[in-house]
Amino acid sequence: MTQTPDTNPARGAVEVVQGLRRAGVNWSKLPAAERARRMKEAGRILLAEADALARIVSEETHKPLAESYSSEVLGVADLFAYWCERGPELLKPRKGLVPMLDMPGKKARVERQPRGVVALITPWNYPVAIPMRTIVPALLAGNTVALKPSEFTPRCAAWLVERLRASLGPVVDILLGAGEAGAALVEAGPDMVVFTGSTRTGRKVAVACAERGIPCECELGGKDCAIVLDDADVDRAAAGIAWGVLTNAGQNCAGVERVAVHARIADRLTRALVARFEAAAADIPALVTPAQRQIVAAHIQQALDAGGRVLTGGLPADPAAPIPPTLLADVPRDCPAWTDESFGPIAVLVVADDDEALIEAANDTRFGLGASVWSGDAQRAEALGARLRTGMLWINNHSFTGALPDLPWAGTGDSGTGVTNSPEALMHMTRPRLIVVDASKAIEPWWYPYGDRMLDLMKAAVERQRLGGIANTLKALKALKARNDELKS
Ligand code: ADP
Repeated sequence: MTQTPDTNPARGAVEVVQGLRRAGVNWSKLPAAERARRMKEAGRILLAEADALARIVSEETHKPLAESYSSEVLGVADLFAYWCERGPELLKPRKGLVPMLDMPGKKARVERQPRGVVALITPWNYPVAIPMRTIVPALLAGNTVALKPSEFTPRCAAWLVERLRASLGPVVDILLGAGEAGAALVEAGPDMVVFTGSTRTGRKVAVACAERGIPCECELGGKDCAIVLDDADVDRAAAGIAWGVLTNAGQNCAGVERVAVHARIADRLTRALVARFEAAAADIPALVTPAQRQIVAAHIQQALDAGGRVLTGGLPADPAAPIPPTLLADVPRDCPAWTDESFGPIAVLVVADDDEALIEAANDTRFGLGASVWSGDAQRAEALGARLRTGMLWINNHSFTGALPDLPWAGTGDSGTGVTNSPEALMHMTRPRLIVVDASKAIEPWWYPYGDRMLDLMKAAVERQRLGGIANTLKALKALKARNDELKS
């Protein structure tokens, strides 16, 4: 494995990309079913050490062990199971349609080719689940992968890559270091970049990719809103939203950061949410980095300075103490707690008098990752949800689908337009390659010389498509025959 020399990440990055490109020659030639077989075995070996993996996750991120299992290790098991089962089928060539009448004798197929070396730049909040949701399908599709994990969670990544290399060979490698290592990796010229992280860094990565013509998928931040309608099951909504806000201490791109509730049930929901937040306090770990704690603390402080109220939680007197589950109300909409991603165990509650005002509040963000609508009437919730500008909409739940490999994780706006998980993501990790085999012996009617009949034929063909019907088809066939006779003469 290559690790970045502190002084020269660029050299390390070039070595990583070159090594992977060499390894990719044989790996990409294997039938997908064989890659799936080897990967299934690699997953089995890796997961035999599930306890060790969960422990490293908890040590690096402070997650409770149960959450390291539920949100990271279990996800890995699901990824191997899904992709090794479904991948080969999804990668099968598609038979392309060549019109038999106009273009006889031709067979087309569209294969999915691996892109080559996929550079994967990842954050610290899910140091196993986020890299693996790309590594598994990318390898399965015949790519090789260069992982640049967050500088705050290098151990999880190194552990994963070491085990995958032991099973699969040098088809995956790691480049350790901070932002400059990520930048060097992009500069080293991989064939695709998959980035998960902040909007600010994602933009930089996307620009660097654009300058080099490298396809780039960015999954960025979020400011998800949970809308609670007046017919919602208040207790269940409060329990689900509390989990949506607090899971992973809120360090979740699709964490609920805003709750918009109908005035008619606002008091009941507030009481239930406060109770759920307080009951969860013991399970909420400290944030992964001190810098993140500072951001969250500043969001709370600025909200209070602007007239916001703490419904539960708030800033601890000890500046080093973990931030408890915090629910804020009356926060002006120009405060960072409303405009920016907080990425902590806090949410802002807003009360609205009708459905229109609820939608307006939820859409009042530049982000567009997820949203949820909580209601006793799924149809009403879905109709309302259709007006929300997000990549994901959950009715009566929130964000749990990130762990489901078949479902796309996708956003819009400042959340980025990248897609991870799902067959849709597999399409991005591969490129279509068209192969056409022509068994025709004839000179094609569109070849030279054009003569007089070529234009007649093209006009007749357009008319046939425009108007349809047997008469126009016959006219087109007659024009084709005339053109073929002309070519023979
Ligand atoms: P966060 O992890 O807090 O969301 P970032 O978006 O800055 O923060 O980081 C996400 C990943 O991007 C990390 O692995 C980080 O090291 C990497 N990174 C930071 N700056 C750059 C850059 N200019 N080019 C490529 N990768 C970068």
